[in-house]
Amino acid sequence: RFITFEGIDGAGKSSQIEAVVSVLRERGIAVEQSREPGGTPLGERLRDLLLHEPMHLETEAMLMFAARREHVARLIEPALSAGRWVVCDRFSDATFAYQVGGRGLDAAKFDVLESWVHPGLQPDLTLLFDLPPEVAASRVRSTGVNPDRFEREQRDFFVRVRDAYLERAHRAPQRIRIIDADRSPEQIRAQIEAIVAERWFA
Ligand code: C5P
Repeated sequence: RFITFEGIDGAGKSSQIEAVVSVLRERGIAVEQSREPGGTPLGERLRDLLLHEPMHLETEAMLMFAARREHVARLIEPALSAGRWVVCDRFSDATFAYQVGGRGLDAAKFDVLESWVHPGLQPDLTLLFDLPPEVAASRVRSTGVNPDRFEREQRDFFVRVRDAYLERAHRAPQRIRIIDADRSPEQIRAQIEAIVAERWFA
């Protein structure tokens, strides 16, 4: 099984990923936890460039997918073939939301890259953490960590990213489940556990 977590910066997905991974492990499931961009040694080097080096929009999209190609080949597909579960912080939905929605990449180019890099592979379940960009931005600020070049974007950028995520969710309602992330961590965790239980442990 392949589960991904998505949402704008500050949506709070990272701490919930830890919770889901421990719940699965308690059930005796072998889980690989990973993230994008990143997940492999080369992917982590590309992540560093992507987060800090200004670049052309199409370069950005291609590097995202280059890191993903490596991740799919070296980690995701081998794990899934061996029967392990993969829980990943972001995947191609993020590239659709940030590069197509946020930055205006031609959606047809996104489609070409996606079908090149992972034909036939989509997450079994995607948890989309949805909340107003203002709330997310105040959470990012409150971490006190230096923002990367995406986190420094303005509100209208995150409005576009959020809308693109929601558009994608409406096109794949079985796969992408929308989580109201403007609630307490306990409420969010309970909703996620219910979704996972309903899908696989009912
Ligand atoms: O989720 P995480 O904070 O690790 O993501 C790193 C950064 O990369 C985020 O600021 C996110 O906005 C950005 N990103 C992006 N396009 C993607 C994936 C991540 O702009 N396809």
